[in-house]
Amino acid sequence: MTALLPGVATLGVLGGGQLGRMFVHAAQALGYRCVVLDPDAVSPAGAVAEKHVKTDYLDHFGLAQLARDCDAITTEFENVPALALETLAGMRVVAPSGAAVAVCQDRAVEKAHFEAAGVPCAPHAVITNEIELAAIDPALLPGILKTSRMGYDGKGQMRVATAAELAAAWDDLKRVPCVLEQLLPLKAELSVLVARGADGQLVNFPVQQNLHRGGILAVTEVPARAVPAEVRQQAVAAARQVAEALNYVGVLCIEFFWLDDGRLVVNEMAPRPHNSGHWTMNGADVSQFELQVRTLAGLPLSEPRQHSASVMLNLLGDLWFSDEGGPTPPAWDRVLGLPGTHLHLYGKADARHGRKMGHLNITAATPEAAHQVAVQAAAILGLPTDF
Ligand code: ATP
Ligand code: MG
Repeated sequence: MTALLPGVATLGVLGGGQLGRMFVHAAQALGYRCVVLDPDAVSPAGAVAEKHVKTDYLDHFGLAQLARDCDAITTEFENVPALALETLAGMRVVAPSGAAVAVCQDRAVEKAHFEAAGVPCAPHAVITNEIELAAIDPALLPGILKTSRMGYDGKGQMRVATAAELAAAWDDLKRVPCVLEQLLPLKAELSVLVARGADGQLVNFPVQQNLHRGGILAVTEVPARAVPAEVRQQAVAAARQVAEALNYVGVLCIEFFWLDDGRLVVNEMAPRPHNSGHWTMNGADVSQFELQVRTLAGLPLSEPRQHSASVMLNLLGDLWFSDEGGPTPPAWDRVLGLPGTHLHLYGKADARHGRKMGHLNITAATPEAAHQVAVQAAAILGLPTDF
């Protein structure tokens, strides 16, 4: 593919959320024009792009408009109909492919892909009917029942301890196709971001250590201080293997569980930049979003270099509310008085509980210093400081 040059080409993105917004910012910094397709009249990415096409993702006219305006098109979420990407692929450069996104859209298919790539995942079984439900291996209990499709931030998941609870949970999930995963004892959660170009060039960021609260990412630390080099190498090798096996083009995030017994298993993957990679905006010389732009435009990928120890704190809408009520914006001025703090807000007008409003990156010369400032920032914001 010949490169789509900055200052000349226009790049499009399906989806107007915060990931789309940060993609647009990175693309514009390089000199590209951007078009966002999102059905919502107001969206974080639509507000900053040169153009916002406000139609449904499968709308014929919307997709035609996007293809007319753009030289290349990507997506910012995996639940975008793979069909939309396939339709566009007939007209324009599209990355990642609809086929790769389709794998990530379905947990059962995704797990089969991991196994085929030789990367172990959690013991699991697929449940699509009564017979499969009845045949569940009791060794998978206690487990987590997850809908195969459309899950995010822990939604569409139920913990089950017995066969009876499993049957009731499957009823609650409306008997849609599900995957039952054994509940594993986690020492820590890790993720690895890779970027792969159409020419096969593959680069990766260092291993990220992630803390979730209530099924939502809360804190990412890089380097993953507590994780031995050997486990980190294993995670990077597995992530690269998964991307190669998919013949993937774009930015891909692979999430791992590091288990109490020291084993590493893959959890899931996202065919796009990921919340756990937001630290790269300030802690590395090239961000995950710039690499997304480079993969899409067919530019050479630069091997990312982490120049600062980094911590990322997710900022949910809960921070806007206190016992006295709300919404009231948090004391950003105090937080930004701490050394190495970088605030990113997504331009969402209404703060709501559990809604991702922004993130705070903390950079420092050492992991210990970054951690210490992150704890201070968390205390100011009223976030838990036990990380
Ligand atoms: P997202 O897309 O936001 O990353 P998700 O809704 O797709 O999340 P998962 O990543 O599958 O959900 O699970 C959310 C969290 O639940 C995990 O990060 C982990 O903390 C916990 N979890 C999931 N599966 C297991 C498991 N098999 N054993 C132990 N904990 C688990
Ligand atoms: Mg996850």
